[in-house]
Amino acid sequence: MLTYDSCSEESPETISFKESLECLKWAYKEYGEDIVYACSFGAESSVLLHLISKIKPNARITFIDTSLHFKETYEILNKVKEKYPDFQINSICTNLSLEDQETQYGEKLWEIDPNQCCQIRKIEPLKDELKQYKAWISGLRRSQSATRANIKYLNIDHKFKMIKICPLLHWSWDEVWLYIKLHELPYHELHDKGYPSIGCEVCTTPICEDGDLRSGRWLNHQKTECGLHMD
Ligand code: SF4
Repeated sequence: MLTYDSCSEESPETISFKESLECLKWAYKEYGEDIVYACSFGAESSVLLHLISKIKPNARITFIDTSLHFKETYEILNKVKEKYPDFQINSICTNLSLEDQETQYGEKLWEIDPNQCCQIRKIEPLKDELKQYKAWISGLRRSQSATRANIKYLNIDHKFKMIKICPLLHWSWDEVWLYIKLHELPYHELHDKGYPSIGCEVCTTPICEDGDLRSGRWLNHQKTECGLHMD
């Protein structure tokens, strides 16, 4: 089994997949129960969940519940549970309530220090969750942003010390939507209201037409990533 400890920087380069499904088949054969999909329930998730359901109907799925999501995010979560009843979906969250966060760090930490807020509400809970796995799956695509342009199917994740698999790296935004429509998949309702990238409600705004797909995240901050995908 290819693990964080056994692979070198070159190892992931040596495995080349042509198709997302082939990548997922390899991943589930290689890692069995030791792999989890960290799902955000955006458009890419609709595709990945469908692909995964063909290979591993009882796959383990993790959702980071920051307690600050849009109501539509919880709605799509429930729709996914209905469509794929065998998936083992686990919602995880920090032990720090929003009230305690405010007491400890001040009001609206996401405005004062969004990196700290993401660290507490996203990164630490996922770090704890991933300790039980050898690899995780992400819906990252190369064309999403410059910081994602060099991802591979298999990546050494130094942050979480494990393997990260990105089966959709070559998909375009249009291909994602073609797949969703073709298979009539449930998707996050806010995609129809100008939100191509959806995170916490307090940090996500709709974008103007032709705007960068991630430009609605952390408006007024330099921040472009929550930190889950940065070593
Ligand atoms: S996206 Fe915003 S509200 Fe959500 S954890 Fe990060 S900074 Fe906090």
